[in-house]
Amino acid sequence: MRIPVNTSSHAYEVVIGNGILREALQTYKGLVDKCDQIIVLTDEHVWEAQSTYFQNNFPYPFDYFVMPPGETCKSFENYFNVQTYLLEKNCTRKSLIIAFGGGAVGDVAGFVAATYMRGIPFIQIPTTILAHDSAVGGKTAINHPQGKNMIGAFYQPEAVIYDTHILTTLSKKEVRSGMAEVIKHALISNENWLHHLMQLPITELDSHSLADHLKQGIEVKAGIVAEDETEQSVRKYLNFGHTYGHAIEAAAGYGGIAHGEAVMIGTVYALLLSKRYGNVSHEFTKDFLKFAYENGYPFDQVSHFTFEELTPFLLKDKKNEYGVLKFVLLKEIGAPFVQAIELSECKEVDQEFRKLIQ
Ligand code: NAD
Ligand code: ZN
Repeated sequence: MRIPVNTSSHAYEVVIGNGILREALQTYKGLVDKCDQIIVLTDEHVWEAQSTYFQNNFPYPFDYFVMPPGETCKSFENYFNVQTYLLEKNCTRKSLIIAFGGGAVGDVAGFVAATYMRGIPFIQIPTTILAHDSAVGGKTAINHPQGKNMIGAFYQPEAVIYDTHILTTLSKKEVRSGMAEVIKHALISNENWLHHLMQLPITELDSHSLADHLKQGIEVKAGIVAEDETEQSVRKYLNFGHTYGHAIEAAAGYGGIAHGEAVMIGTVYALLLSKRYGNVSHEFTKDFLKFAYENGYPFDQVSHFTFEELTPFLLKDKKNEYGVLKFVLLKEIGAPFVQAIELSECKEVDQEFRKLIQ
């Protein structure tokens, strides 16, 4: 299956399917032939779990650099080390970067590609469910000690090749994390699809139906990114569940809780706010919470922090303008909008939320 992504700066495709890596890469021979060398950037866990499959199915000569795993690869130090490696390899503007990993690898590899010699081409080969979101849309970044994703660029890949066979070695926690973003895509776009997802044991999908849901998620993301590449308007909707979610993720120390697990917590919080400003019923939120509990999302994490401990992180959210908190809410399922919320109301809803998840 191929999904076109047409942004104002660049058009490309997401190729998705089970066991498609070799065949899909072969269709990019024209691009590869124009390059002088290929550098694969990956991380320790991905390489340990998937290097054999990768090497057996990558049809071109390549060198590779293995970065520290997960979020740690988004440090300035690692970013510097990768750039040094590229310089030592005499990479030029004609060299091609392959990002082989989850969202963390994709983010740093994309930012390396955006900035090495003012920009060289890159291809995303995502290896997590979450990366159906992060690999599409061209947001690239590294972290600063003062905030996650604070240093980055909008930079689109040449292609995204998404082989769901690679997802079979993910831990349950990572599956859960990634599925939270699939559910987010359903919540902001399509009530029927959401209700279908809510009937499923979402951490135990077979690779066929998983590929179908990922395709739908990518279509939602691609549609939004095509309309608003640089987040001036509708792209903000993709932050549904992320305002409170990011605060929990930051308070726990990145890595303490998986990104999508925190987003699921923030999603229930945003549903409660959506009852106040939209028509999302309390019954729906309770059903949704039950579904999230049954699938193992760690709501107990909330009790580790007081609202006051979360407040500085809520105030740092990139969507805020002039010190006013901005939340993405739902008028109803499938109909997102942005709403300014006072901190005092955030606190009220925080108390309501804590009672609900007790
Ligand atoms: P991740 O990249 O940190 O991967 C999670 C863990 O799973 C890591 O330890 C990784 O090594 C391991 N792993 C990855 N693939 C594996 C596989 N196939 N088998 C076994 N282990 C594997 O996490 P993620 O959830 O994919 O991405 C989170 C990152 O994505 C965050 O840094 C977040 O900021 C970023 N993100 C970016 C965007 C964007 O638009 N650019 C959107 C959402 C999230
Ligand atoms: Zn996210």
